[in-house]
Amino acid sequence: MGRPSARLHRYQMEKVSFQSGGHQQNPNTSQPTWVIATNRWKNAKIIVTYWTDDTIVLHWIKGDVTRWKTFVANRVAYILDHSDPHQWRHVPTTDNPADSATRGLSPSEISTFDLWWRGPSWLSQLPSEWPDTEVPNTKFDEQSLEAKPIRVHSHPTQVDCNIIERFSTYTKLVRVIAYILRFCHNAQSKKTRYYNQLSTVELDNALRCVVKIVQAETFQSDIHGILIKNHLPSKSILRNLTPFLDDGILRVRGRLKHSSLPFDRKHPIILPQRHFFTELVIQNSHQATLHGGASLTLAHTRYKFWIPNGRKAVRTILRKCITCFRVSPHIGSQLMGDLPIHRVNPPNRPFIATGVDYTGAIEIKAARLRGTSTYKGYIAIFVCLATKAVHLEAVTGLSSEHFLLTFYRFTGRRGPVQHMYSDNGQISLAPISY
Ligand SMILES: [Zn+2]
Repeated sequence: MGRPSARLHRYQMEKVSFQSGGHQQNPNTSQPTWVIATNRWKNAKIIVTYWTDDTIVLHWIKGDVTRWKTFVANRVAYILDHSDPHQWRHVPTTDNPADSATRGLSPSEISTFDLWWRGPSWLSQLPSEWPDTEVPNTKFDEQSLEAKPIRVHSHPTQVDCNIIERFSTYTKLVRVIAYILRFCHNAQSKKTRYYNQLSTVELDNALRCVVKIVQAETFQSDIHGILIKNHLPSKSILRNLTPFLDDGILRVRGRLKHSSLPFDRKHPIILPQRHFFTELVIQNSHQATLHGGASLTLAHTRYKFWIPNGRKAVRTILRKCITCFRVSPHIGSQLMGDLPIHRVNPPNRPFIATGVDYTGAIEIKAARLRGTSTYKGYIAIFVCLATKAVHLEAVTGLSSEHFLLTFYRFTGRRGPVQHMYSDNGQISLAPISY
């Protein structure tokens, strides 16, 4: 027999599985059998094709070696030193004779098992006749591929979107943004274009656009928490509001779900306490309420927005309002009269000029004995006009006689009084007629 003139195709099938330890080695050498076979035919013009039914192994071979963990990477590197990735093809498990070898066959079966003796039927045909045995496009998770975890250091940077700070009023900001959005829409759509006056829908869209920018700047972690984990960070200042995302906008959940109020009123948009847009919103409400006070301005703001610690934020803005400062009214105060003569001239002794009044009713007990009944009484307060000295006397009734008895006790202790002042009560005036 002469040497074959056509290119010799030699097809070797071997089950490769790192997991099952199927890296079979020749007992006489340290190299696997397939490597020995490759070296034997190295100088011959032979196209060697390797087959495996393990799709993960094919991913390892055809993937980036540096991605795999050390154990896998070393073995893949060894394979690639002795073969090219394009030589490796996938064979279904049912057509893989190596699979029978690893699983085992009884002697009675192996004698008639054609797959073992001759290989799959299509293998004796030309490569063009082989079934499509490319690597199935299966997605494996990183764990089954034994990929190395990749550490990525992310450094999120906030977009400095200072377009909001270019406007001095809320209305102007929303209208300009609405015109910008209209321009974008008209540039992209030739069928439906908007002209003339801005519609309420356009203004609403512009407001939502601005709010999204503001909330993305200030409530980034809260929005991320709700989107990814469906709960807020533990230290979030919005926890009490139980916010939710409505078309990408953070709103207060509140307890008015079953109310017939408008949606904006039931679930106001959350704004940060310190932000330029919040200042514009408060200024707009302040002007809409004709420079109303803090409560009125805050109430107007809450028709659409909710500002945490809003009263403080409103007061801060109102203090800066020049109009309010210019027209701020002064509270009128009465001119006080001259002080009485006895208040300004020190007497020889206290209580020469005395004022008197009664307290409210009190319970008076006659003695500290058991069973002693209590009765209604009062305290007469005598105040020296010059020295503010105070003398207290218990009074057992509201009649003039009771007052006179009290007055005698008072003068008995403090001496005679030259001038008595009272609040014109009938009780103290009545003795004058005596
Ligand atoms: Zn004002």
